[in-house]
Amino acid sequence: MSQRLNQSVTFRGVGIHSGRPVTLTIHPSKLGSGIVFERKDKSGYQIPLTIDTLHTANRSTIIRKGDVIIQTPEHFLSALYGLEIRDARLELDSDECPILNGSADGIVHKLVASNLGDTQVINELVHNSISNQVGSTIDVEHSLTIDKSHYVTCGEDKEKSFLILPSDVCRITYILEYSDSFVGNQIADIVVTKNSYENQICMCRTYGFEHEILALIDRGLIKGASLENAILVKENSFSTDLKFPNELALHKILDLLGDIAVLGASVNGHIIARKTGHLENIILAKYLVNLQKG
Ligand SMILES: [Zn+2]
Repeated sequence: MSQRLNQSVTFRGVGIHSGRPVTLTIHPSKLGSGIVFERKDKSGYQIPLTIDTLHTANRSTIIRKGDVIIQTPEHFLSALYGLEIRDARLELDSDECPILNGSADGIVHKLVASNLGDTQVINELVHNSISNQVGSTIDVEHSLTIDKSHYVTCGEDKEKSFLILPSDVCRITYILEYSDSFVGNQIADIVVTKNSYENQICMCRTYGFEHEILALIDRGLIKGASLENAILVKENSFSTDLKFPNELALHKILDLLGDIAVLGASVNGHIIARKTGHLENIILAKYLVNLQKG
């Protein structure tokens, strides 16, 4: 059962790419309205989260409509999706979401503390009013059930792929392989529920390799990155203790959930992802949206 926000929740921080301060407020919104971003600094310009506005740039997700963008929304989208909140308006006063501590735990804790409610009561009211008007009912949340296997490859690099299998639950397996690094392989395999999201997935932080970080700094990016909001992967060690032995692979699942939030519904299926990132996740999201449309 999806959840609804009962009150607005505000976050302040800096964008990891821009380094600029930003205030982001998540407001409750009408059942069935989906996720909508609103740029307060652009006269309230709104961008709904749809498969057409979902893009990737600089190894992050980006929401774009015309010339207006929202950078790095993935951890907020992931927290909303993980907590089964399908409708919300995200108002921000800059072009990038705050990175906070590089995970989604601060977002989750604030949202949960704001006293979420389930949408069942509203859902029933909608059903009743619709059935009174047209003599039939609709289900506001259409969960996507995978009933056969699908193999999704992503461009030239055949190593980056998704296998989607039937399952009664939402299960995600992530296979991370860094054979050139001491990190080696990490595997995360988790049944995604509100509970597993709150207690494990949301806590896993973003990370970057030292040599890649230097290259990104050279390009004028990640002005807001620090050891407070990312795990630095050094030549032979991490900059901090990991919260879980497979925290990097679990963060990849956190990111994947943010990128499939565009479905606006839960998935009953087992997604096995290998070496994928935001670019590939968006290919997966498109594939799933097409399955959802039937
Ligand atoms: Zn991430």
